[in-house]
Order: sequence, then C-alpha cells, then structure tokens
Amino acid sequence: MTSEEIIALLDSPKEEDKKLIERAYDFALKAHEGQLRKSGEPYFNHVFETAKTLAELKMDAPTIVAGFLHDSIEDGVATEEEIKKEFGNEILFLINGVTKLGKVKYRGAERHIESLRKFLVAVSQDVRVLIIKLADRLHNMRTLQYVRPDKQKRIALETLEIYAPLAYRLSIRMLSRELEDLSFKYVHPKEYEETLELLRNKKEENIPRLEKFIKSVKKALAGENIIDIKTDYRQKGIYSLYKKLHTHENDIEKIYDILAMRICVETVADCYRVLGIIHGVWRPLPGRIKDYIAFPKPNGYQSLHTTVFTGDGSIVEIQIRTNEMHHNSEYGIASHLSYKDNKTKSTDTNWFMQLLPKVINYSKTSSKEEEIPLWIKDLAESQKGIKTDSDKQEFIDDLKADFFNERIFVLTPKGEVVDLPIGSTALDFAFAIHSDIGLHTNMAKINGKNVSLNTVIKNSDIVEITTKESSKPTSKWLEMVKTNMAKRHINNYLEKQKKK
Ligand code: MN
Repeated sequence: MTSEEIIALLDSPKEEDKKLIERAYDFALKAHEGQLRKSGEPYFNHVFETAKTLAELKMDAPTIVAGFLHDSIEDGVATEEEIKKEFGNEILFLINGVTKLGKVKYRGAERHIESLRKFLVAVSQDVRVLIIKLADRLHNMRTLQYVRPDKQKRIALETLEIYAPLAYRLSIRMLSRELEDLSFKYVHPKEYEETLELLRNKKEENIPRLEKFIKSVKKALAGENIIDIKTDYRQKGIYSLYKKLHTHENDIEKIYDILAMRICVETVADCYRVLGIIHGVWRPLPGRIKDYIAFPKPNGYQSLHTTVFTGDGSIVEIQIRTNEMHHNSEYGIASHLSYKDNKTKSTDTNWFMQLLPKVINYSKTSSKEEEIPLWIKDLAESQKGIKTDSDKQEFIDDLKADFFNERIFVLTPKGEVVDLPIGSTALDFAFAIHSDIGLHTNMAKINGKNVSLNTVIKNSDIVEITTKESSKPTSKWLEMVKTNMAKRHINNYLEKQKKK
C-alpha cells in the first residue's frame, strides 16, 4: 500500500500531480493514525482503497487526492482549515461534498427524500463528488461482512436502490456491476445463492467449449487478415442475470449471454467486417443481431451483438466493438473526466458533457443556475414545494419512475439535450422544457415532420414544440404523457379549472 501503487495506475501523470498524491497519502496516514475499521484493519486502508478505485477510473489528481482525504475531517483528526491550507479550495469542496452525501441514510420512504435532495445539490455542482462517493461505497460494500447485520441490510439496500443505478446512469459499468452483485447478496440472500449456483454450473459446462470457440474465431479472422484484435469473454453479473431470469420465465436455457465472447478492434469499419466474417462461418440466431453502434443504448453503450450456433451444439453471444467503445462502456463518464481528456473535449456535444463540472469558483459555496446540468434541474424542479406526505410519496414515485429507469436523450432544435424516460411522448418533451410551454403546446415536429402530440420520441430525435396562447390541456392529455412530471402539471391545471 504505497503512493507509487496509485501513481502507477495513471497514464503519464504530471510531476506536480505525483507530488500532490504523495502529500495526500502522507496526510491521510496521519489523519487516521491509530484508527481502526470494524474489520480491525487500519482506517487508512479504506481511504487508500477509495483512492485506488479512483485511480483505476483514471480520474484527475484532485479527485484522487479527495479520495485519500474524504474521511479525514469527519472521521479523522484533520480540520477544514488544514485541508484548505494544504490542498486548496477545490479539494476541500470535493471532500465536503462527499461528507454531505455521507449523511444520507436511505431507509426507504421519507429519509429517501431528504437524502436525495442533498444528493442532487452536491452532484449538480460537481459530478466528481458522486464518483468519489461511489468509490467509497465500493470499498464499504467489499467489507460489509464486518458490519452489524441490521446495518448490512440497510447499506446494501441503499446501494442497490440508489448508488448502483447512479453508477449505471453515469455508465460506469465497472462500478455498477460490482455494486449490484455485492448488495444483491445481502438484500436477497436466498435468490443470490440460487443464481450463483446456476451460474457456477453454466460456467463449468461452458468455459472449455468457449475457449475453443474463441480460438477458431481468431483463426477465421486471421484468415481475412484481421489480426490486431483483443478477444476475451465476460461473465454476466449475478444480479443482472437474476433480473434477466425474471423476464425469461426463470429458464436459464433461454439466456445466451451468461458468458459472452468479446472482440475489440480499432475502427468502426472493422467491427462490421468482423461481424460479416463471423456470420459467414457460423450461422447467427435470427432476431438476435443488435447494432448498438448505429443505435446506442440510452446510457451511451455502443457495441454490435450477435448470437451464433458454434457448431458443437452450443450457442454463444459475441460482442464486437472498438477499443474506445469498450473503454467508454467500462468507465462511462469517468473516461470523460480523466487526465488527458480533461477540458480538451469541452466542445463535444456528447450528453456526458452536460454532466461535466464547468469552471466552478470553488471559493463560493453555491454554483450559478446555468452551471447545473439540465437533467438535474428537471429533477430539482419536481421537488419544489414538497410539504405533505403525499407530496413526498409523489417525489419518490417520480424518481423511481423517471430517474432510475433508462432514459433517452433528445434534442431541441438548438441542440440542447433533454433527458427523458423511455416511452416519453412529444408532449412530455414540451413539459420537460418548461411547464408553460407544456401547458400551451399546440403542435409538435419530430425531425422536421409534423407529428401528433402523443408520438413516442426516440433517442437523438430532434423535437420542436410550437405553442399557442389559446391551447390548453384537456383530460385527454393525461393519456398522452408518460412522465409523472407532465401528468402532475396537467392535473394541477385541470383541478384549477374545475374550481373556477
Ligand atoms: Mn469513507
């Protein structure tokens, strides 16, 4: 456990960054001196592992430093003044953000709201706060066996309901997969064991055959002069398998991607060539060819998927993507915040960019309105005026239904990205832009064509709304929207009309 171990994980770090990380290492060691974790290990191990995960994600030096220092005020002996003096405002800001999130305790229902409020405020100011929290949570989950059983369950549930979906939402698969699997074990122990057993049997049965198949694929590709490739196989996460089993009548034979072969190549053109060569040799299963390169998943995931008969009686899923796509799918937003890329791609219209910290003045405590990403603003919008219990319940429902489900990203004619749940209509889009626009929606265009207001919008559609002062919601509108936010605005309007 040395600072060199952390620095070695970074791609050509600057000299000043190395020094900064070394100083943080020493500072954390002192701040937690003599302190022990529940496991009996030195407390320092926890902050070291947190920083290590951040380095694995290739985060910038301030983030890694904040990983080392994230508990030094709250649990260690350091003070805010010391951190400010030694490491400056930016790092203090990140640490305070993580501490705030740490006060959040999810117990279901009411607590949930308080927590998520703080959550949103902190995250909307700097997404790095959230990534540090995820790395912190990962180590806490890895050592959850040392915690009191009643606490285990609460922490695991919170991870499964809030943190893992957030990691997924930020498309950091590397984190979301492990967070899901670790919490699954505590939240549904019986189902976990059953799924694990299924997975074990499948693996024993399939791995030798799969390894043989990978060899023959490589040979077939080499025959067509495709040599510069990386191949391996990945095992589906236990929780992800458990969820999939539910939608496939618990029949494991119907799930073909438990073990999937992965091929990484340099260019997009190579992806399609590889697919063509494979289909030329092995017969694909109809209906299972998916082009997530041309049509990325809502969280940005890109890859070609196909499932083929291997010829020895088994069926294998093959995932083909570029090295860059692979990197993005594992690291998600973190890859856009990393060392080398930092600030150089800021003109990118990628939706990730919306989440990036704009230049924040870290000496101030609050950030300006326009620095808050659009999708966070939408959420914050829906929590204004929460007073009664039913309002609170509504907020939970909104979040569960709208936020933690998969989202699509659509554009305004000006190119602003709007983030909506799958199945949203043009009318939902209007309300997502502004309630006043929603309430006076007259016509909608998708990709330049006139459409009815209840048309379901798809990823990367360009949606244009025309309003008219005389246009007003009717009860029919309720059937034309999917989001709870739009429904509530329409209902409020209709109730007001009734009273009049
Ligand atoms: Mn911690």
